[in-house]
Amino acid sequence: MAQGNLLKKAFFEEKIVDISDAKVSIATNSLQYGAGCFGGIRGYVSKNGDVNIFRIDDHIERLLNSAKILRFPINFDKNFVKNAILETMKLNSPKTDIYIRPFIYRSDEGISPGFFGKFDLAVYGLELSEYHSISKGLNICVSSWTRISEKNIPPRTKAIGGYVNSSLAIEEAKRGNFDDAIMLDERGKVSEGSAMNIFLVKNGKIFTPSTTSSILEGITRRSLMQIAKDENLEVIERDIDRSELYTADEVFFSGTGVQVSWVEKIDGVLIRKEIGEITKLMQTKFFEIVRGENQKYMHWLTKI
Ligand code: PMP
Repeated sequence: MAQGNLLKKAFFEEKIVDISDAKVSIATNSLQYGAGCFGGIRGYVSKNGDVNIFRIDDHIERLLNSAKILRFPINFDKNFVKNAILETMKLNSPKTDIYIRPFIYRSDEGISPGFFGKFDLAVYGLELSEYHSISKGLNICVSSWTRISEKNIPPRTKAIGGYVNSSLAIEEAKRGNFDDAIMLDERGKVSEGSAMNIFLVKNGKIFTPSTTSSILEGITRRSLMQIAKDENLEVIERDIDRSELYTADEVFFSGTGVQVSWVEKIDGVLIRKEIGEITKLMQTKFFEIVRGENQKYMHWLTKI
């Protein structure tokens, strides 16, 4: 992972402060119980040197929906979150591609779990290029861990505690020398990657698990579906079996972290040796758009 430095300024306890002053007590409730939810947003450098944030409003909406589903007692709105992100990032005046992490967390020192007490918003950023290589094909396994479900931690929330599940899948993958993992839902259908959505291509059509397959409703996923539609490609949301992965013509991941990355092998089965035609098209269009080189999608970008 090509993670760089943390950006110098962060939003913490309703103020912009130096990142070194954005510190919580070790007794913080969310640190003990994962009581919080977060977002992950990218900013990309364009040709003229501006850094543009990709789909900031959609990310904020998902963050606040997570808080709503989890019933966090918060008293701030979309505008407050957007101002916090934009004002903090303006002061950082980044020159590279960045990753922005807004999160809402239970900030009091109460010892009992539960979504009461005090909740705060915090925002920080870091320099980030690739999370996984986008040029090399990924070597993936299907995890023996089941993806969280609507019966325990609602998967469409980015609940902090839910990432114990992702971490288990990543740990298992790394231990087996794989780059990452695909998770099945509790019915045994394909859900998504450890922290990314999945697509497969078969006979020129694109398939992806639907929003009721325990996925996080990815903003990159939604963007690629729109791009595919605009390219007159058919995208079908339906249940996908594990065995369909092995015979797919192409498999690719989407996510703020992974961007658009392609899969070479799954469980040791060769999917393809080189990036597929449709994956390549999705990758090319995606990067054109996030770098501000496609006028049609400029409304997805917000200049810092
Ligand atoms: N699934 C999970 C579990 C994730 O953490 C992410 C990353 N946010 C995604 C999917 C992809 O979502 P997005 O495209 O909005 O980053």
